Amino acid sequence: MDLVRASPFFDNLLADGIIEEVYEGLPLCPVLEDSGTMHFILRLCSPGHITILDLLDASAKHALSPALDKYLMDQPRQRVEDILRGSHEYVQATDNALRVYALARAFGLDVVAQVAARQSLSAPLEEWEPSPLVISVMSAADLHTLLQYRMRCSAAAHHAANIVPSPSLTSEGCADNTSTRGIRCVFCTAPKTRSRREGVEFPDAGDCRYLLSIGRSAFHIRTPNSANNEHISLAALDKILHIGDEYKQAPGRRAVCGDLFELLYEATANACSGRVSFRENEARATMKRLVEQMQKDVDTAVVKVPLEVVGRGEGRGQHFS
Ligand SMILES: [Zn+2]
Repeated sequence: MDLVRASPFFDNLLADGIIEEVYEGLPLCPVLEDSGTMHFILRLCSPGHITILDLLDASAKHALSPALDKYLMDQPRQRVEDILRGSHEYVQATDNALRVYALARAFGLDVVAQVAARQSLSAPLEEWEPSPLVISVMSAADLHTLLQYRMRCSAAAHHAANIVPSPSLTSEGCADNTSTRGIRCVFCTAPKTRSRREGVEFPDAGDCRYLLSIGRSAFHIRTPNSANNEHISLAALDKILHIGDEYKQAPGRRAVCGDLFELLYEATANACSGRVSFRENEARATMKRLVEQMQKDVDTAVVKVPLEVVGRGEGRGQHFS
């Protein structure tokens, strides 16, 4: 009698003894739900394995969540939550994040929905390929909620990443130049590497460089116009200046790694070298620290963005961390 254990509704119904029909010695209770709905609810009451795809398929065909509400079935609802929460690794891929989000919203599990929504940020919107099942389970309102959430996360990530170039055309010493937020070049201002007093030759006044702010820090980078064979390619500069866009498109993804990190490092490698002694290992470690800090700030900013769902659930605007 799984239904009796899982549902106070059926427990009371049978206890009251007002059953009208009996089949092979067992009581029969007429219900309005179709057999598919009741069959899947029985599966949720039984120990058999249920995958997310099983849940998605059943949710696309039957109104499971209203039936669980109607029959006061907290345990099967908890089972659904356990299945979704157990999919934490499974949620890493965007398609699966969308599945879990759609199901979590359908069952009113807003904390799970928040986790899945955040996972969906790791891919750009154009890479989303929701399956027909996801499309039939996810309501238009839930899709709207997800897109609004994504827009707010994009703005938060872009702001925290703060990848902004400022022209730095003077050769009066990099340390005198500040970015738009008043940040100075970390290499020029580092006490160990300051070399103006050491008499190192300064580059021509006509050379061109940018002060690139990245998160809370900034450093000089060479440009395609830099003098003395120190220029970088237009393609490299383009990639560097578009790092902020990467965070806008996929605010949950780590943008500066691999080739992009190397590009950044190369771009700054000699940008201050005429003015400061540039030790490769130190500079690379410094750059890594700046990027890590920026990424941490981006992640923190995104985590603070709530999934603002409308309707019942575990709390409007609640966020999971
Ligand atoms: Zn500098």
